Amino acid sequence: MKIIVCIKQVPGTNEVKMDPVTNTIIRENVESIINPFDTYAIEEAVRIKEKFGAEVYGLSMGIPAAAEMLKEAISLKVDKGVLLTDRKFAGADTLATSYALSLGVEKIGDYDLIICGKQATDGDTAQVGPSLAKALGIAYVTNVSKIIDINKEKMHCMKITDDGYEEVEVKMPALITVVKEINMPRLPSIKSMKTAKKSEIEFVTFNDVIADEKRVGLIGSPTQVLRTFVPNHETNSEMIQGTAEEQSVKLAKILLTKQLNM
Ligand SMILES: Cc1cc2nc3c(=O)[nH]c(=O)nc-3n(C[C@H](O)[C@H](O)[C@H](O)COP(=O)(O)OP(=O)(O)OC[C@H]3O[C@@H](n4cnc5c(N)ncnc54)[C@H](O)[C@@H]3O)c2cc1C
Repeated sequence: MKIIVCIKQVPGTNEVKMDPVTNTIIRENVESIINPFDTYAIEEAVRIKEKFGAEVYGLSMGIPAAAEMLKEAISLKVDKGVLLTDRKFAGADTLATSYALSLGVEKIGDYDLIICGKQATDGDTAQVGPSLAKALGIAYVTNVSKIIDINKEKMHCMKITDDGYEEVEVKMPALITVVKEINMPRLPSIKSMKTAKKSEIEFVTFNDVIADEKRVGLIGSPTQVLRTFVPNHETNSEMIQGTAEEQSVKLAKILLTKQLNM
């Protein structure tokens, strides 16, 4: 079996700075971590590998520094890291990101299962998993909390819904997005961290894939962030003093005045 885990590098801080001109996140020189939901995706892929035998690829689209994050994934028993990185991929919205990731998946080729995190902690849309499955023309199941059985033909899994749980059977190849209830991610050993540091990450540029230039990066993004801002939570409060009776009379007067002014 070949499993591809989509791993996104996200800022490891809440102090995210935005480029005032492009309205995109400034990712350079910011401490970055593996998107927390993707650590569960990695762990699940590695558990399948340990139980049934599989080759696990970590796939990311990001700046060249994201290669270090893929090495971290290798220290967690991912076999190979592939990084889509090119100026042409930059500034992608979820649609262009999914398209670019589909190019990476096709470059790796011959896959059985793709595992994504439920959502990224920066963009937070939870769109990339389903959108990637659509770009590849394969079935997907979101919010998976347990893989009950899996083989090269089909997978039986459990997903969390608003009302409880659903058991789903899906034909392979398929894509799943996973929630944190699925497992408890392992920590890397010192030895595996040292070995992973020396591992080679495959860099894939725009010219390495057969891609439609109009579908990647900022040009290929039908949605654009126009403005980012912290909402202004201004509250005007007035304390009403007196007995309960006095307070209710004063409150009624205030409400009446407000109603008349509307
Ligand atoms: C309207 C809109 C406009 C945007 N415009 C810009 C922009 O102009 N410039 C810009 O930089 N960003 C922009 N973004 C953010 C950018 O779209 C997201 O960072 C990116 O598309 C991933 O979406 P997400 O973070 O919501 O991921 P989610 O859909 O929440 O992620 C789900 C899962 O998909 C996988 N995944 C997601 N992204 C990657 C990745 N890069 N590599 C590997 N796996 C991944 C992971 O497994 C992750 O757990 C925009 C977002 C929106 C909604």
